Amino acid sequence: MSDFDFLNPEFLFICGIVYIFLAISVARLGTYRACGGLKAMIFSILFTPVIGLIYVLNSREKHVLKIVHYRCPSCDLEYTSNHRYCPSCEKDGRKVHLERISMRTY
Ligand SMILES: [Zn+2]
Repeated sequence: MSDFDFLNPEFLFICGIVYIFLAISVARLGTYRACGGLKAMIFSILFTPVIGLIYVLNSREKHVLKIVHYRCPSCDLEYTSNHRYCPSCEKDGRKVHLERISMRTY
């Protein structure tokens, strides 16, 4: 056993994979922030993922608009508020539950 066992190629290879994996994780977080995923990735690789994570967390969140609406699977009408049954179908005597649809826009 030498004191430099930790410098063997396999160990460095695993470290490299973990490093890249962490950088990608930070990049994915970054996609929801104003800094963006690519910048977060570059920061993580250049200055370690820890710095990248701090950079991402300090970046403000992207303005995400979440739109929820409800669609009737029977007549395809869409509503912005939830109803117990589709009001249009209910008039015809059918009780159709609405499907909840949520979308995100940036
Ligand atoms: Zn309907």
